Amino acid sequence: MSTLLIKHAAVLVTMDDERREIRDGGLFVRDNVIEAVGPTAELPDAADEVLDLSGHIVLPGLVNTHHHMYQSLTRVIPAGQNKELFGWLRALYPIWAGLRAEAVYVSAKLAAAELALSGCTTSSDHLYIFPNDVTLEDEIRGVGEVGLRFHATRGSMSLGESKGGLPPDSVVEDEDAILADSQRVIEAFHDNSRYAMLRIGLAPCSPFSVTRDLMRASAELARSYPGVRLHTHLAETKPDVEYSLEQFGLLPGDYAEDVGWIGEDVWHAHCVHLTPEALDKFGRTGTGVAHCPASNARLASGIAQVRGMLDRGVPVGMGVDGSASNDSGHLLNEARLALLMQRALTCDPDVLTARDALELATLGGARVLGRDDIGAFKPGMAADFVAYDLGDVAYAGALHDPVAALIFCTSINVAYNVVNGKFVVREGRLANLELEPLIEQHNAIARALVDGEAT
Ligand code: ZN
Repeated sequence: MSTLLIKHAAVLVTMDDERREIRDGGLFVRDNVIEAVGPTAELPDAADEVLDLSGHIVLPGLVNTHHHMYQSLTRVIPAGQNKELFGWLRALYPIWAGLRAEAVYVSAKLAAAELALSGCTTSSDHLYIFPNDVTLEDEIRGVGEVGLRFHATRGSMSLGESKGGLPPDSVVEDEDAILADSQRVIEAFHDNSRYAMLRIGLAPCSPFSVTRDLMRASAELARSYPGVRLHTHLAETKPDVEYSLEQFGLLPGDYAEDVGWIGEDVWHAHCVHLTPEALDKFGRTGTGVAHCPASNARLASGIAQVRGMLDRGVPVGMGVDGSASNDSGHLLNEARLALLMQRALTCDPDVLTARDALELATLGGARVLGRDDIGAFKPGMAADFVAYDLGDVAYAGALHDPVAALIFCTSINVAYNVVNGKFVVREGRLANLELEPLIEQHNAIARALVDGEAT
């Protein structure tokens, strides 16, 4: 048993049922669980470790609901800089075909480190390409070394160009092999217990890269295990919608329903071009959405109707999306973009407040990933929290409202990040590994991958 006392936080943002923001607040943590939340004066005054967070704002760790960590190796590829989704993918698939286990491991570690520094404590990842010797274990190992809580999804592509899909045949897999490996990783790694550090989901990539049979079979397999969720891309761009109409005769929301991908155990990335009827369906069924505004802007995909989703009761979380279509992995900045872009889209300054945006990135993400043990500070919740230094230049002149400043001002990195009661970032530096050699190793692998050498 060990205890940790956080005290004197300038503001503690609880995200509890009353959405309390506590001045001079703190937390008392026993092992991996929050035992008490409140003003410093009302908390126990001793613990094995005591951390004075005067001058810091403390909030529940941010939750990332969509990512492709391996894409950190292929940021800003010149041939993909000015392309929409399909052209961008066609430019990148041949490079990704060269991925190997070591590349996936190192890029997952780098991406998890970047997320952790930005304030993320729980991330999902969507790994859908398994060339050469790549396995899901490679990214599980990388993220575990950083210390994030992780929802790894076993993605897949089975519909190559020769069968009417978008990816080249060289990067797709056989469907029986996909399902067998999906079952293998669920049985090897999925932990459905409270405070689990690792869960597995199934994630066929998109309507234009897998068959309807694989969508249905993946859903059936996932639903035969408790807590195994389903994730994919949906209605990302207009050509994506056109593909759905041409190939299936269905709009994306109807396609999702047709293959059984509607329900509380499903979350779809993007949903930029869903119809109001489809959003109604998502709201009625609790089908979740990962909102990825930077990627949607970068690829000229459009802006999702987040306000319309929230008004219908659709669970919405934030996602940084793959590092090659963002080209960043800063989750707090993603929440900032959610606010800015909803306002730009609707010309309504009240459409999303700073506190709404923070809620999307915490409680919203927790709900999308099906977790009731993270996203808020209450006794019995997991000890996942982050602290930002209010003395940073970004917040100069903004301390009338430090909570709103997190969203309105430049997104900075955290001073502290604690996951499951353990430090992931301490005094602005990663606690479990050295960042500089990791960046060097990552850059060497990226260079070799793009040059087509064995990695
Ligand atoms: Zn994606």
